[in-house]
Amino acid sequence: MSDSPEQTSAPFYLPTSNEVELFTAAYRQRLPVMLKGPTGCGKTRFVEHMAHRLGLPLFSVACHEDITAADLVGRYLLTGGETVWVDGPLTRAVRQGGMCYLDEIVEARADSTVVMHPLADHRRELNIERLGESLRAPDNFMLVVSYNPGYQSVLKDLKPSTRQRMVAIEMEYPAFEQELSIVVKESGVDEASAANLIKLANAVRKLDSGTLPEASSTRTLVATGRLMREGLSAREAAKAAMILPLTDDADIQRGLAEVIHSYLPG
Ligand code: ADP
Repeated sequence: MSDSPEQTSAPFYLPTSNEVELFTAAYRQRLPVMLKGPTGCGKTRFVEHMAHRLGLPLFSVACHEDITAADLVGRYLLTGGETVWVDGPLTRAVRQGGMCYLDEIVEARADSTVVMHPLADHRRELNIERLGESLRAPDNFMLVVSYNPGYQSVLKDLKPSTRQRMVAIEMEYPAFEQELSIVVKESGVDEASAANLIKLANAVRKLDSGTLPEASSTRTLVATGRLMREGLSAREAAKAAMILPLTDDADIQRGLAEVIHSYLPG
């Protein structure tokens, strides 16, 4: 969990569309939000920024296939010969007020999405079966989930009944000028170098999903810029932070190395 209000200013986030207004409106109307977008496009940073702006503690959970309802709601643990109930992050957010962010929600097991239903609709209730307790969420509780629509099997898709309870905000890689500002600010490289990296990323993004499961994200551009700040050449940095993490296929790697050579100085 990160408690973002301890910071003095909100984490840097450059809006790319009307996402700040939509998110704020959803919070004021006590509606849960679903962020849809590719990995590394800024979803987590946006949530951290909004939690700070709205003055809410942030309870983040990176979901994966072993996450169960108990991981979110809580469980009895053995301590010193006793069983003690320990609230999970979702329960803590409901009890204290705050934003609960379930990152990559479709990775979690189905039973964990079921606990969200009464919480996500007008009841705003969290049922803690093991305690026989039902908590009503305070006005300053907000549920936010994110997922990558291009990166999941249809089977693991969120149930329509869950989706319909949420306000969806679609996020994409930022437009050229915006991505330029982000890469310069986040990595510290100069504008000309950042522009070359983004042109390279845009070339890679045109490849179809059969060639690469994911495209070069804003996150990988920032990482490339950071390596360049440490003295690596643009080509070395891009290979290490943008290309090799995307694929293990030697032929595709060779093809991408050629793309690097045509976009970046040696
Ligand atoms: P996601 O959660 O979508 O996988 P992140 O929020 O972790 O992606 O974003 C990855 C990185 O990209 C951030 O740490 C930040 O450096 C940068 N970034 C992406 N979009 C933005 C944005 N709009 N404003 C500021 N930084 C951004």
